Amino acid sequence: MDRYSRQMLFSPIGNEGQQSLRSSSALIVGVGALGNAIANHLARAGAGTLRLVDRDYVEWSNLGRQSLFDERDARAALPKAVAAERKLSAINSEVHIEAVVADATALTISDLIDGMDIVLDGTDNFASRYLLNDTCFKHGVPFVYGGAVASRGMSAPFVPGETPCLRCMLPDASGGATCDTAGVISPIVDLVAAYQSAEALKWLSGRRESMRRSLVTVDIWAGSYYEVKFGSPRESCPVCGKGEFPALEAAVGEEAVSLCGRETVQISGGAPLPLEEWEGRLSPVASVSRNPFLLRAELSSGERLVLFPDGRVLVQGTTDPVRAKSLYSRYIGN
Ligand SMILES: [Zn+2]
Repeated sequence: MDRYSRQMLFSPIGNEGQQSLRSSSALIVGVGALGNAIANHLARAGAGTLRLVDRDYVEWSNLGRQSLFDERDARAALPKAVAAERKLSAINSEVHIEAVVADATALTISDLIDGMDIVLDGTDNFASRYLLNDTCFKHGVPFVYGGAVASRGMSAPFVPGETPCLRCMLPDASGGATCDTAGVISPIVDLVAAYQSAEALKWLSGRRESMRRSLVTVDIWAGSYYEVKFGSPRESCPVCGKGEFPALEAAVGEEAVSLCGRETVQISGGAPLPLEEWEGRLSPVASVSRNPFLLRAELSSGERLVLFPDGRVLVQGTTDPVRAKSLYSRYIGN
């Protein structure tokens, strides 16, 4: 326990809180900048289990702020969940880390949240956040929201049955600025992740009465901070007022989604893709490279396909879902 001695000297945690942390579990959805920083805090603090979910792999543009990754991870195109698992296991081998290379969707999220004590938001878009919010309120699991764009960040801990939810506080948050259009600086990421991690530490160490009851907004460049205290849940909120979970009722099936600002379209819902088999199939028509987790095929047209065993395909080099579908049909089928 020596490694936790300073944290245990902090009286709200103490020996009892540390024991509680040790038997706790947290789901971190999105292992980008926020997810890296949160996972780092919770692994060093001695959480019992961390389940890390991410659909993407490490790229050079991530290294400016995604603190668990290095150049070797980018060169090897390791999935972010796997690269983070390796680094975190070296940081604290006592923590059970589960790396899940998948997309959190209405189809997969119920399995992902199963057995988890808290859910932390490491995503970069509100469709995903509403999905996490709805799932958490359906299952009675706290959801710690966080987001950072440019030099500005927001965070709030939502506790089902006790506080309003994300939809109550930010009912229509789609279509704002994103990191891909407005950029982001790494200090704001660390600050937001620190707010999220502190709430997780309170909940997981058993200090649930200390959970903050507000939405904070910080601009680390301007040096401004303001806080909106939680009121009652809104009656007009589908989740809190009507007991509906709209994000979980979203259409399922094969789907092409343009990933914001990344010149990438993700196509999901197709059949599983055994990578070795697909390496043989695509090698005659593309320049193919494979690691145990994904296969990349550079097409002569300049676009790139990235195949995952769960059936997902990223079409890189276009933002047009129609063009992406056409390449998908030509090379993968359907
Ligand atoms: Zn609500």
